[in-house]
Amino acid sequence: MAELSFETLAFKEETDRIKVTLLNQFYFHLNKEDLAQIAQFKINPHQITFSNISQTKAEKKFRSILDKGLKELKSLITHNSAVYVHQNSGIPLLGNVSFGLVYRNTSLIEIKPMTGCNLNCIYCSVGEGINSKKTDFVVEKDYLIQEFQKLLPFAGESVEAHIGTHGEPFLYGDIIPLIADLNNFKQVHTVSLDTNGTLLSKKIIDQLKNFKKVRLNISLNTLNPKTASTIAGVPYNLDKTIEVIKYAKNKVQILLTPLMIPTYNDSEIEELVKFAKENKLEIGIQNFLTYKTGRNPTKPWPWEKFYSLLKSLEQKYSIKLVYAPEDFKIAYTEKLPLPFQMGDIVSATIISPDRFPHSRLAVAKGRTISIPDCQDAINKRVQVKITRDKHNIFSGKVI
Ligand code: SF4
Repeated sequence: MAELSFETLAFKEETDRIKVTLLNQFYFHLNKEDLAQIAQFKINPHQITFSNISQTKAEKKFRSILDKGLKELKSLITHNSAVYVHQNSGIPLLGNVSFGLVYRNTSLIEIKPMTGCNLNCIYCSVGEGINSKKTDFVVEKDYLIQEFQKLLPFAGESVEAHIGTHGEPFLYGDIIPLIADLNNFKQVHTVSLDTNGTLLSKKIIDQLKNFKKVRLNISLNTLNPKTASTIAGVPYNLDKTIEVIKYAKNKVQILLTPLMIPTYNDSEIEELVKFAKENKLEIGIQNFLTYKTGRNPTKPWPWEKFYSLLKSLEQKYSIKLVYAPEDFKIAYTEKLPLPFQMGDIVSATIISPDRFPHSRLAVAKGRTISIPDCQDAINKRVQVKITRDKHNIFSGKVI
C-alpha cells in the first residue's frame, strides 16, 4: 500500500471526481478514472492511499496527475484561473509586483504569498476583490522563505518582513507557518501584515501573540456600519472587526491604517482617532490617491489639506498621526543587481498567464517579466524588449 500525505492539499469526494483544495483558497478536480488507473484508492481529507502499488510508483504516477490538475487551478472566491508558484514551477519570485518578493533597496522586504480578496473596496488601489477578473497567484510557503533568505545579505541590516498582498493575507492557508518562519529570522525585527481585519479571530490572535515581532496594519476605515459596507463594497461586519481589535490590543502590536477617502469617510476620521486614543492603539491615517489599475471613486485631497487635518487632530488628541520612514526603522540598503535593463532585448520563455486578461508572464535570468497584450503559447521562446525595470519589477513587449 502507498500512503501519500499533503499538508497544503485537501481532498473531497464528488460524484465522479475528487475536488482538491490548495491552501484553503484554490481548487481543481481530479478524475476518479485517472486515479483508479494508478491503483484502487481511498481518500482522507489530507491523504490518498493506493492499494497494491509501491510508494515510489504511486508517488510518481500521482505527481503527474496532480501536475495536470494544477493547470486547471482556480480561485474559490472568484473562480478565476490561478497559478501555483512552487519550487519546481520554473517561476522566479522576483520580477512581479503582485506575488513573490519585492525588494526596493530598503530594509523593508515585501512578501506576497497570494493574490485575491474577500472584500471589494471601492478604493482598492490594485483593483482586487470578489469581482476581480484577474488571474490569481499563490506561492508555496517554503519557496518564499528560501528566496527571502537570499535577499537578506543585500539588505545587510535588520529588516522588516512586510506581508503586503494584492488582497487579504489571512486568506492564505499557510499564513501562520509563514509568519512563524519569518519571525524566526534573527535579521528580521518586525513581521508586518496589511490586513482588512475581517478574517481575524480570537483563535488567530492567540496564535499570533506567540510571535513577538508581529505587527498588524488593520485598515479600519470607519466606525459607522453603513459607511463600512459602502467602502468595503460588500456587507461588512464592523462589530466583529472591532471586537477582535479590542481582544488583540494587548496581545499583538496593532497599527490602525484607515484610508481617508474624500466624501466617503473624511468626516468620520476624527471618531477613528478618538477610538485609537481610547484603546491605546497606534493609528497611521493614509491619504487616498488614484492609481491607473485601481478603483478611483473620488478625487484625492491635496497633501497640504491632508497634513493640516492630521496636525490639527494630533494637537487636539495628543496622539501621533504623522509618520516618517524612520519611525518604522526603514533605511536604504544595497541595490539588488538588475539582470537586464530598460531597452534591453532579452530571450525569454512564456511561462504562464499574467494577472490581467490577455497578458503573459515570461521568465529570463531568474526574473519574471510581465507582458501585457500578449497571448503567446506557454513554453514559447520569445524576444522581449524590456519597458520597465524599476526595483527588479519587469515589464516588456514581445518583438
Ligand atoms: S481589503 Fe485591500 S485588497 Fe481587499 S479589496 Fe479592500 S483594498 Fe483591495
